[in-house]
Amino acid sequence: MKEENINRGKINRRELFKKTGSGLCFLGMAGLLGCAPESPDSEDALEKEKKQNQKGKKGLVNPTPSPWFTTLEKGQVRCELCPKECELEEGERGACRVRENREGKGYTLAYGNPALLQEDPVERKPFFHVVPGSRALSISTAGCNLECKFCEVWDMALENPEDVYAYNMPPERVMQYARDAGVRSVSYAFGEPVIFYEYMEDVAELAKEAGMLNLMHTAGYIKPGPLQKILDKMDAVNVDLKGFDPSFYREVVGGELEHVLEALQLIREKDVFLEITNILIPTLNDDMEQIKEMCRWIAQELGPRVPLHFARFYPLYRLSDLPRTPASTLDKAREAAFEAGLEYVYVAGVSEHEGENTFCPQCGEKIIKRIGFVIEELHVENNRCAYCGREIPGIWS
Ligand code: SF4
Repeated sequence: MKEENINRGKINRRELFKKTGSGLCFLGMAGLLGCAPESPDSEDALEKEKKQNQKGKKGLVNPTPSPWFTTLEKGQVRCELCPKECELEEGERGACRVRENREGKGYTLAYGNPALLQEDPVERKPFFHVVPGSRALSISTAGCNLECKFCEVWDMALENPEDVYAYNMPPERVMQYARDAGVRSVSYAFGEPVIFYEYMEDVAELAKEAGMLNLMHTAGYIKPGPLQKILDKMDAVNVDLKGFDPSFYREVVGGELEHVLEALQLIREKDVFLEITNILIPTLNDDMEQIKEMCRWIAQELGPRVPLHFARFYPLYRLSDLPRTPASTLDKAREAAFEAGLEYVYVAGVSEHEGENTFCPQCGEKIIKRIGFVIEELHVENNRCAYCGREIPGIWS
């Protein structure tokens, strides 16, 4: 059924990854794409386990008690992690597929069982203002608390953890892997990290101790309490602001826009670097007036220095009948964002587009030249434009 959906579209999944450069390496398709993570040098238990895992290990579910549940009457529990606030009867699972009521207690089933473990450039997360050219290890599990009709990773995100291939990776082992790979950061990305919150929190603690950066790419669908807490461990967050119309969010994304805006404001108040990604889907969220409104809101509420990435949509999953985003729409959106006062506006998914680069808002010089995810030139020195000395927001070392 899923393959039918893909094939009815203009491109298949393999072509999508080629075009967007967002090739994923979760186990459900690692063999298909030939992109299994590189092995660390040492022939140790991790290596053996990884080899076994690559052959495929389904059914990895590690029920772990979660503190983010409230006990209700008659054995019910309520999950306090995201705005959906699922109230679960005994044996019932939340909308995200990974949180469950077991004998009157709330558990996460997404702890230590990532379905994706992948090392690649930080630009792919995407973070354009975080140590350009460095490498990050990404992890993600099955499950998601939203249900985007344009989900790029639906065969991981919209599945139960027991139904996908996964690694057996407790936090210590993730760190061993990260150290062996020599990455600068650990990134909770590709799938939705909110739903594997407890796992992310424990990995992030170890990564911080090891002097690595913690990066989260999220849809921002999380309640303020848990968000505040996880931000203490994060260095940078990229939030997918998927549109600016409440009914688009309700019907196409499966959530309420107001909660995402609230999360963005909270992140901005903290000492955590913020970037935003906005995918433009023809006919659904590409109305230019609404894009302008969104850009004005970002400039006013979050500030003009927050980098904004406009991402190109490719037909897939439940929106396989729509065309890909025309480059002209992305151009117009970028222009509108600059007019609204935003200083760093990017375009993703259009090969060798001017919007891949970073320009100094003061002197106009190209301070970071990118080709895809490769840094060709970097003219940021001591957090400043090398030409005029203007401070450039971000984490540069
Ligand atoms: S995280 Fe999952 S279980 Fe918790 S409220 Fe959100 S959808 Fe429901």
